[in-house]
Amino acid sequence: MKFPYLFSPIKINTMEVKNRIVMTAMHLGYTPEGSVTDQLVDFYRERAKGGVGLILVGGCPIDEFGGMSSMICINDDKYLPGLRRLSGAIKDAGARVGAQLYQAGRYTHSAMIGGRKPISASAVRSKLTGETPRALELSEIPGVQDRFAEAALRAKEAGFDCVEILASAGYLISQFLSSITNRREDEYGGNLENRMRFGLEVARKVRRAVGPHYPVTVRIAGNEFMDGGNTNQEARIFAQALEKEGMDLFNVTGGWHETRIPQLTMFVPRRAYVYLASGIKSAVSVTVLASNRINDPAEAEEILRNGEADMVTVARGLIADPEFAEKARTGKADTIYHCIGCNQGCFDNIFRFMPATCLVNPRAGLEGELEIKTAQVKKRVLVVGGGPAGMKAACVAAQRGHRVTLVEGSERLGGQVMLNERIPGRKEMATAVKDLATNLDYLGVEVITGKKADRTLVEKMNPDAVLIATGARPGMPPVAGADLPHVVQAWDVLAGKKGVGKRVVIVGGNAGGLDAALFLAGIGTIPPDALHFLVANRAETLETLLGLMNRGIKEITVLEMAPKAGADIGLSTRWTVFAELKRLGVTIITGAKVISITPEAVEAETEEGVKRIPADSVVMATGSVSVSDLKAELAGLAAEVLVIGDAVRPRNALEAIKEGFMAGLSV
Ligand code: SF4
Repeated sequence: MKFPYLFSPIKINTMEVKNRIVMTAMHLGYTPEGSVTDQLVDFYRERAKGGVGLILVGGCPIDEFGGMSSMICINDDKYLPGLRRLSGAIKDAGARVGAQLYQAGRYTHSAMIGGRKPISASAVRSKLTGETPRALELSEIPGVQDRFAEAALRAKEAGFDCVEILASAGYLISQFLSSITNRREDEYGGNLENRMRFGLEVARKVRRAVGPHYPVTVRIAGNEFMDGGNTNQEARIFAQALEKEGMDLFNVTGGWHETRIPQLTMFVPRRAYVYLASGIKSAVSVTVLASNRINDPAEAEEILRNGEADMVTVARGLIADPEFAEKARTGKADTIYHCIGCNQGCFDNIFRFMPATCLVNPRAGLEGELEIKTAQVKKRVLVVGGGPAGMKAACVAAQRGHRVTLVEGSERLGGQVMLNERIPGRKEMATAVKDLATNLDYLGVEVITGKKADRTLVEKMNPDAVLIATGARPGMPPVAGADLPHVVQAWDVLAGKKGVGKRVVIVGGNAGGLDAALFLAGIGTIPPDALHFLVANRAETLETLLGLMNRGIKEITVLEMAPKAGADIGLSTRWTVFAELKRLGVTIITGAKVISITPEAVEAETEEGVKRIPADSVVMATGSVSVSDLKAELAGLAAEVLVIGDAVRPRNALEAIKEGFMAGLSV
């Protein structure tokens, strides 16, 4: 497949970009002291080599009051040597590079800035930090704006091809723009014209500092998605005014960090927010960049071909696969490892103050340390088990030149990850498996499904190395009544092997139990196509349609023993899972220890005493146990036998895939 729109060059002011793919700025946690590190340079160099047109790095704090010291600092000349090294490495590898100018205002935590109060347009409490900032004095405003201009000039001096002013996501410029956070009564508050003033003056000062021919872009919220906040309509007016200030490109994203509408998780459909960019494009004449959940070249091509935007953002998509662009350009788009929007390795790590990595790409952030080198001695490698760990191990071993066979006992690859295919909003997990399967094929791995690997088979194959990735099976706690016929395993329900009655109690409220709840609660809700049809024809009232969408035909109760359900789900995704469960009317009872299961109910000890919850079906989601018997069976059959993934210890896909990757490197 060819992508003529995606791979046509574009000129932004004086900067020519070879294609339409932009890696926008993402906090990666690779600069603990604020200075550019080898880790950061290696990470971006690899993406630049992979063919992306433009890389925007950052956010780069413009002063000491609006960012973290662990970001890519640009607020002092002492950072110039590192910044030059970074821009040079990216440009030498064939991409254009820009720096994103960052001032987070009330999204800055006081602990990050030496206990000082963060600044904002007005003293409006931030739900993100739980703190109330101080309003900037009128006399302080020019100084803050000057820091933007100085940082822009520093970026230019450091060899960056362009700068981006960050005016989205609820950061300082957004705080002035929005009446939610701007309660000022001076010329910077009140009507939209006044609220735009701060951002427009920043743009003017930046333009003046860098001169007319240096590209300046602005990242704006296409809709704040906040109650009473700016919509696309105000964003268009702001963009038009910024264009008059000489801005060259609008990078259009979705809402604020405080919005309750998911922006980046798997629940957000691919290319869901392109319409926001399209709205801005209809109002301005400069380049418009569409962002959020664009992770496939065919979809990107369609956006460009339709004229919905002029460029596309592939940010996490390039963490997942640094060669995204080059693979698409050279006819290997099928082999791209797509970003699946899980956030497990990237955002969730950042929220825990850890460097970003990636579920589908364990090398992300470790480019300098983990190289896939051709093996000195070519071996026959047998991988037993076709879950993500085994598949990744097989891919890496094959990439290194080994002759690899993968044997999977069931009829299809993917293991329990494929159960996500049936869960609304979780389907992208299956994309990770499909991508691994495509790459197994591409790398020439012999894949045998529906065959149990035992001593006889291994003897016959006579491999040099065996990697045992036989995964896990569901666990069953010793609960009275667990053997009753209406008690089923969540895995069997998700696989479609077992049905359930109307009243369902799910035992276990970690990710597995909540996924089962999402699936079961969705049964009987109106399908998306039918909803679209009924809305388009105004066949029902909005209230009726919302009712049909939000309530299925099952009554679901989840019992979790711990004080908190979903404790194993990352911070960026957990709240969206709970919002969905609430929408679907799922009851979650925490601190509930199941005592017994009867034919009609589940009895559980809770803080309020023993509860009896009527149940037609009981779904067990109480964790899993490793399956690793094969290791003993294969004793003495191969020089190397390694157990990997859940077969060692059940855990999440991020860890399992990393372990598979490392095993592939080690054989
Ligand atoms: Fe995408 Fe998940 Fe990788 Fe983050 S960890 S880049 S969301 S696949």
